[in-house]
Amino acid sequence: MSMPDKQAPAANQARGILFCPTASNADLLQEALEAARGDRPLWIWPDVPSPEKVACLVAFRPPPGVFEGLAALRLVHGVGAGVNALRDAPGRPAGVPLCRVVAEELDQGMAQHIIHAILRETRDHRLYDEQQRARIWKRLTQRHACDITVGIMGLGALGLATARPLRQLGYNLVGWSRSRKSAEGIESFAGPAEMGTFLSRSDFLVVLLPITAETHGILDATALSKLPRGAVVVAVGRGGQVDEAALLAALDSGHLSHAHLDVFETEPLPADSALWAHPGVTLTPHIAASPHPLAVARLVMENLSRIERGEPPLHAVDEARGY
Ligand code: NAP
Repeated sequence: MSMPDKQAPAANQARGILFCPTASNADLLQEALEAARGDRPLWIWPDVPSPEKVACLVAFRPPPGVFEGLAALRLVHGVGAGVNALRDAPGRPAGVPLCRVVAEELDQGMAQHIIHAILRETRDHRLYDEQQRARIWKRLTQRHACDITVGIMGLGALGLATARPLRQLGYNLVGWSRSRKSAEGIESFAGPAEMGTFLSRSDFLVVLLPITAETHGILDATALSKLPRGAVVVAVGRGGQVDEAALLAALDSGHLSHAHLDVFETEPLPADSALWAHPGVTLTPHIAASPHPLAVARLVMENLSRIERGEPPLHAVDEARGY
């Protein structure tokens, strides 16, 4: 006779959600979860009166020890597209699905951020800003989109969503991913063997990869040297993918003409980083895109219900690939 599963009753009764308010928009996320939770209990870390009744943990950067006592946990849910902080959190229980957010407003925000950076360079608006401050009336020769190739490194949900409007604006597009894609208007390159060719074609390099053991440090001095002279890097994936020292050297040598950086090896960017004041760098504090809080809350509820019905949740991380 098999022994009864001691955790089964707790797992069946556990319906609660534990939210860790560590994201910058935590207040809005909390409001949205409150509005979407129905009759499910919602607890806000560190106030967890009944850890054994938590079915779902929602977090961006999980606080240390957050998984302790969550014996009936059935779902770990991120609040954005990248869930590497949750993925790598000590104590995350094996076998409990980890889900990320895929959402329309996230796609739109990322496309807006990237296109803004590309237009600022290709339409010379950074230079026109300087000219205005110096009261200079000087018309620069317009660069046409059909003469410019944008390379998107990471043709996943966000890479493909950004490619569509870029194509409509007339840019040539190349993309690089682990597996080859057949998306209209994008020349697809795949795998390490094709990375060099992809880079050599990218006048603008958009880095939109998840951070994994394979993508950490992927844009080192050798990789950056393969970009065309005068290329621009737009880094929006995760810090650690672009080697910051190699990037500064490539800017100083003139090999790269500019870098738009939203993500950094250390965040917040340390005050003594050379990136802050480098004339070739435009930087933002990891704000490229975040999903609408209501979309996050809806997805959390949908995924929790799916798990309770025995269905696979949406947008689960593949633990073997790491994203
Ligand atoms: P996704 O749908 O999982 O797409 C990831 C893409 O990267 C896929 O095309 C994948 O290839 C490719 N890839 C992963 N590892 C690779 C490798 N070793 N070699 C080649 N290609 C590889 O992710 P997403 O939703 O587009 O988001 C991408 C990343 O953007 C997130 O992980 C997050 O880090 C970052 N992000 C940043 C911000 C911000 O505010 N800065 C906001 C949101 C997201 P396959 O398609 O072949 O699997």
